[in-house]
Amino acid sequence: MKHLIDPMDLTKEETDQIVSLAEDIIADREKYQDIMAHRKLATLFYEPSTRTRLSFTSAMMELGGNVLGFSDAKNTSVSKGETVQDTVRVVGCFVDVIAMRHHIEGAQLYASEVSKVPIINAGDGSHSHPTQTLTDLLTIKRELGHIDNITIGFCGDLRFGRTVHSLIKALSRYKGIKVILIAPDELRLPDYIKQDVCDKCGIDYREVKTIEEVMPELDILYMTRVQKERFLDEEEFDRVKDSFVLDKARMSLAREKMAVLHPLPRVNEILPEVDDDPRAAYFRQVENGKFVRMALITKLLEWKDDPQHGMPENQKPVPDPSRRCANPKCICNAEHAPRLFRRTDSGELRCWYCDSKNIKE
Ligand code: ASP
Repeated sequence: MKHLIDPMDLTKEETDQIVSLAEDIIADREKYQDIMAHRKLATLFYEPSTRTRLSFTSAMMELGGNVLGFSDAKNTSVSKGETVQDTVRVVGCFVDVIAMRHHIEGAQLYASEVSKVPIINAGDGSHSHPTQTLTDLLTIKRELGHIDNITIGFCGDLRFGRTVHSLIKALSRYKGIKVILIAPDELRLPDYIKQDVCDKCGIDYREVKTIEEVMPELDILYMTRVQKERFLDEEEFDRVKDSFVLDKARMSLAREKMAVLHPLPRVNEILPEVDDDPRAAYFRQVENGKFVRMALITKLLEWKDDPQHGMPENQKPVPDPSRRCANPKCICNAEHAPRLFRRTDSGELRCWYCDSKNIKE
């Protein structure tokens, strides 16, 4: 069964097929308006969302399908203690595909183990957000005309920003990608992305402290908000909350052909004075999100039972009941997920569900 839990669950070819289908949908929306007739999508959102949930809803409706689900798990059997696995077993009896957002990392991967319909990860904690990644890839392609050979600056909360983690993973398969990480020390990119993705794939990356020093080099500036809800320490949050702000003066240092992306919502990290700049692509990016989700739903249902489009086989979980993942936000610690790990090429252990390297004996 094909699910989308992590951007790497799609091969590069599958990723490109989804992006191309989205472009085709944009070019001829009528052609696709009934292809999901009598099909249903469930949106199970355990964490707040505006864009992602409405974008999935609108995508399925534009394909002629129907949508059901919840945006607040408090009103469901979850409040009686129902597990994510039981919830998807039940919901899978009603729908063809499920989009799920959860504050617990690895929840969707755990749910997918028992699901009889494809699960789409619509964001799990600070871990992954693969449908935002597809949105970002489509936006880069439409803004610049290509995804290969770009210099992209990621700015802001690179520690908790799941969209950054997922996009770097996906970009690691394109040619000539240069990544510049612009963040304060407290919000630097997690080591597991630097080691397991950037170092492993030979991505050219460097860390800098200001937007100004790199602005003229960038094809894409990917802004992010400080993820207040994921901070364990309020004082630390106050120290970094106004860290990096994009204004007109900084925009004046950028190339004429470049694009500013932001997964939104923004708080104060892009001043409204930037919105009229033709290079401000973040609202176009929102619309691309709907088209790419239309393409994703279509492709996942087409690939669902096709053995040529299964889940990646290159990694198998290593069970080890004597160890445990120490990430308090991991599904292993929220529900009784088995103690599964994976080994990196350098031999280190990572949690199978959340990728944490914080493993205790
Ligand atoms: N909307 C994005 C996400 O769900 C970015 C954000 O919330 O800052 O991760």
